[in-house]
Amino acid sequence: MNQITTRGWAPSPLMYASAAVHVAAVAAVLARPRVWPWALGAVAANHVALTAAGLWPRSQLLGPNLTRLPARVGTAGSVALTIDDGPDPEVTPQVLAQLEQHRACATFFCVGERVLRYPDLALEITRRGHVIENHTQTHRHNFSLLGPSGLHAEIARAQNSIFQVTGSRPSFFRAPAGLRNPFLDPVLANLKLRLASWTRRGFDTVRGDADAVFRRLTTPLTGGDILLLHDGNAARSRGGTPVILEVLPRLLDAVRSRDLRPVTLRAALP
Ligand SMILES: [Zn+2]
Repeated sequence: MNQITTRGWAPSPLMYASAAVHVAAVAAVLARPRVWPWALGAVAANHVALTAAGLWPRSQLLGPNLTRLPARVGTAGSVALTIDDGPDPEVTPQVLAQLEQHRACATFFCVGERVLRYPDLALEITRRGHVIENHTQTHRHNFSLLGPSGLHAEIARAQNSIFQVTGSRPSFFRAPAGLRNPFLDPVLANLKLRLASWTRRGFDTVRGDADAVFRRLTTPLTGGDILLLHDGNAARSRGGTPVILEVLPRLLDAVRSRDLRPVTLRAALP
């Protein structure tokens, strides 16, 4: 079975190993108290490994994580454009116009409180055949430091905000900056959400150089890629244009010239 479609929570191998390290450390100290520095060292090393796994957005070590579209009939030759941090009243309407011009669809990972602030814009995204997914309620920069109840609140509130405005409940989740911790996976399973990261990102919230962003996204560009751009928090080019608006038309041309087809995550993984 494809792990990414699993709804119930099952610990990843790293989580099993972490539990085993803790149990073994306690058992060793009980049997031979003098080994406590070694036991403590093993537990500390394990926590370093868990933290590192959470800081690596594309890792599968903390649970299932979609980094490419699965190779299967129907999705061959597909790419998924994912656009994060909106909706944004200045940028999103222009992104929608560019997508329409190229007859392309995209997945928008929206921030719940922005969906509530710009409900007409969120509705316009879905009215045009795109899909809105969950990118937390407030896009907190300390998201990956939250405990289980804090993570649950951020994600469940965004589910409700997006459902309230669009009538559709997200089925994918992306963490702010892709940063996570071991508590996230069971929370997502509980809310029936699948974690999605990306194959490549353009770093277009920090780089205003459209050529560099385009090169990062297209080197190489192949079927199955999940590409990440931003309509919210977009960096500006030297001329002051949100960089996504300079990159997206070129990217859509490149997709077409390679005979690739843009699909939403939900269409590719129903
Ligand atoms: Zn984001």
